[in-house]
Amino acid sequence: MSNRNEQLFERAQRHIPGGVNSPVRAFRSVGGAPRFFVEGRGPRVTDADGRSYLDYVGSWGPLILGHAHPEVVRAVQETAARGLSFGAPTEIEVDMADLLCELLPSLDMVRLVSSGTEATMSAIRLARGYTGRDALIKFEGCYHGHSDSLLVKAGSGMLTFGNPDSGGVPADLAQHTLVLAYNDVAQLEAAFAEHGERIAAVIVEPVVGNMNLVAPTAEFLKAMRDLCTRNGSVLIFDEVMTGFRVGPQCAQGHYGITPDLTTLGKVIGGGMPVGAFGGKREIMEKIAPLGPVYQAGTLSGNPVAVAAGLATLRLVQQPGFYADLTRKTKALCDGLTAAAARHGVAFSAQSVGGMFGLYFRAACPTSYAEVMTCDKDAFNRFFHAMLDAGHYFAPSAFEAGFVSAAHTDADIAATVAAAEAVFKAW
Ligand SMILES: *Cc1c(COP(=O)(O)O)cnc(C)c1O
Repeated sequence: MSNRNEQLFERAQRHIPGGVNSPVRAFRSVGGAPRFFVEGRGPRVTDADGRSYLDYVGSWGPLILGHAHPEVVRAVQETAARGLSFGAPTEIEVDMADLLCELLPSLDMVRLVSSGTEATMSAIRLARGYTGRDALIKFEGCYHGHSDSLLVKAGSGMLTFGNPDSGGVPADLAQHTLVLAYNDVAQLEAAFAEHGERIAAVIVEPVVGNMNLVAPTAEFLKAMRDLCTRNGSVLIFDEVMTGFRVGPQCAQGHYGITPDLTTLGKVIGGGMPVGAFGGKREIMEKIAPLGPVYQAGTLSGNPVAVAAGLATLRLVQQPGFYADLTRKTKALCDGLTAAAARHGVAFSAQSVGGMFGLYFRAACPTSYAEVMTCDKDAFNRFFHAMLDAGHYFAPSAFEAGFVSAAHTDADIAATVAAAEAVFKAW
C-alpha cells in the first residue's frame, strides 16, 4: 500500500545514514518503513501517500497546540519577513527571557540555545564550573540529549562510575558519570555518602519521558533536593520534555520541588529549534561574558524560532489550558486501559499533564528495570494495527506519547474505539 513512503525511504538511505536525521524515526524498533509527512494540521498529519493520521507524537512533544497553529505560523511569517538572523541581540529574545523567568519562579536568569542537547550540555558545564567539581549523577533510562557526559550507562556496580553508552564517547569522560536507578532513594543516599564532595550535579527528568513514561515518587524528588543542598551539588531538572507540557509551571511546579538549574526545549520552541537553560543568579552569572564558563551559539535565540516559541507560550497561558489538556490525556489513557481490560490484554497506561505512557504489562512501571519487562512484541503489534487504522503513536515501546490542545474529545474517542477493535481481535 504505502508506495511513496517506501520509495522515499529507499531514496533517503542512499545519502542519509539509515535514511533519517534522528535514529528513532527509522522505525527500527517496530519494523516497516517510516511515514514521510507532507502536512500537519491541528491533531492530524498526512503522509506522502495521502493518508491521514491522528498524531500522538507531536514532533516528540513540542506541538502542544497541534500542527500549524495559525497564530504560531503568523508569528513565524511576520518575523521571518524582517530577517532570519542577526547574530546580535533582538527584542524578542528579551521578551522570551522575561516570560520564562516570570512563568518559572526558579529562574532568575536564562540563556537561549537551539536544542535540548545544547541546554543540558551547557547546564552541566556550568554546574561543573560553578562547583569546581567533575562528577555527575544521572539515572538509568533518563535521556538528556546526546552530549558525551550524558551518553553513559551504569558501571559494573551501581555505585561505580559509568561506561560509554555510545561509540565515540571517551571512557575517561564516562568515568565522571554515576548512573543510578530512578526512584531509588537508598541508592541515591549511598552515592552521596560515598562521593558527595565530588558531585557537581544531579541531572534528572522530573517525569521520565524517554524510557516510555515513568513518574517520580515524591520521596525521590525530595531526597534529590535535600542531598544536593547538603552536599553543595547543583540540582538540574531537565525539563526539555516536561517543560510547559505537564503544567503551567512545568514539573517543578507540579511537584513543588525547586531545582537550581532547569533545562528547557521542545514546547518553548513551538516546533522550531529553541532550547534554554536557567536558574539561580549566582550560578548563571558564571556564564560568559559575565563569568569563566564558556557557552555560545551563532543561531542562539534565533528570532524566527523564538517567535514560534513565544507565540506558543502565550497561548498556553489561557485559563483552563492545562486542565483541559490533562483531562483529555487522562481520558485517552483511561479509555485504552478499559478497552484492553474488556478483552483480557495485559495493559496499563498513565498520564501527567499532556504526556502519557502506554505499557503492555499489568501495572505502570516505576523504574527502568520494570519498563524493560513490558511486552515489546505486543506493543509492536498494537503500533502497526493502530497505524493502519490511522492513529500515529511513537514508533517504539520505550517512548512517551503526547496529546495536543487541538485533539478534540471526539478524536480521543475515535482512537479509543480503534484500539478497542484492535484488542478485540487480539
Ligand atoms: C528531547 C530531550 C532532550 C534533547 O533535546 P534535543 O532538542 O533533541 O537535543 C534532552 N532532554 C530531554 C528530557 C528530552 O526529552
